[in-house]
Amino acid sequence: MKKLYLIGNMKMNMSIAELEPYFENITTIASQSSNVVGVCVPYVYLDMAQGMLNGSKVLYGAQNMHFQDSGAYTGEISANMLEDFGCDLVVLGHSERRAYFHESDEEINLKVKKALEKGITPILCFGETLEEREGSMAHSVVERQIVGALADLGEEDVSRIIFAYEPVWAIGTGVSATSEQAEEMISFAKRLIADEFGVNNSIMLYGGSLKPSNAEDILSKPSIDGGLIGGACLKLQDFEQLINTKVE
Ligand code: PEP
Repeated sequence: MKKLYLIGNMKMNMSIAELEPYFENITTIASQSSNVVGVCVPYVYLDMAQGMLNGSKVLYGAQNMHFQDSGAYTGEISANMLEDFGCDLVVLGHSERRAYFHESDEEINLKVKKALEKGITPILCFGETLEEREGSMAHSVVERQIVGALADLGEEDVSRIIFAYEPVWAIGTGVSATSEQAEEMISFAKRLIADEFGVNNSIMLYGGSLKPSNAEDILSKPSIDGGLIGGACLKLQDFEQLINTKVE
């Protein structure tokens, strides 16, 4: 049986009232699964995540961070602060941050380096838009994003990153990539990382409208190590089914 990574990205959703039963239940669900389970929550709920998930099998973390340690960056959160809350994970380079907050590959590279320095596992997202795919630019865009985000990093650092291929056209649309499209791009990205950085066994997730009905098909593909899950992680029943996915 393949050991899968199932990591939820809650985005700007949930409340204290909703998270209390959610965290309570997810620790039980994760404890009964042989897969790796994680949740990336809004910053303001990290305190609660630390209180309720620490010591359980559930990894937790944030959805972004700044690359500076401290300073005059109103509204920002540093890796030191995530460390204070015991974060295991941080999502970096999500397409929503690239699109709405104009994050560049250079900035994402600084964030990846800082997270690694602090011992927080980056979940590094990459993926093309529909226009880029239709213009036969998907592979060059993915290559630019990966090489840019990993600039100046060596084999040991790169081996500590979890990657997530998230085609922008599949995120939150209900229309996932086909399992063949996901496998093709993820095997391309894995080969690139092996060739450029000498890491032959990188962990790479698929993200984009992953749900119980398509999980087995997508996650059974040989290069795909798990899923980064947006919408479906908000409904505990759906997330539970995803966490319990078993594939060879
Ligand atoms: C995401 O934003 O990381 C994501 C995968 O979203 P969704 O599952 O809702 O498409």
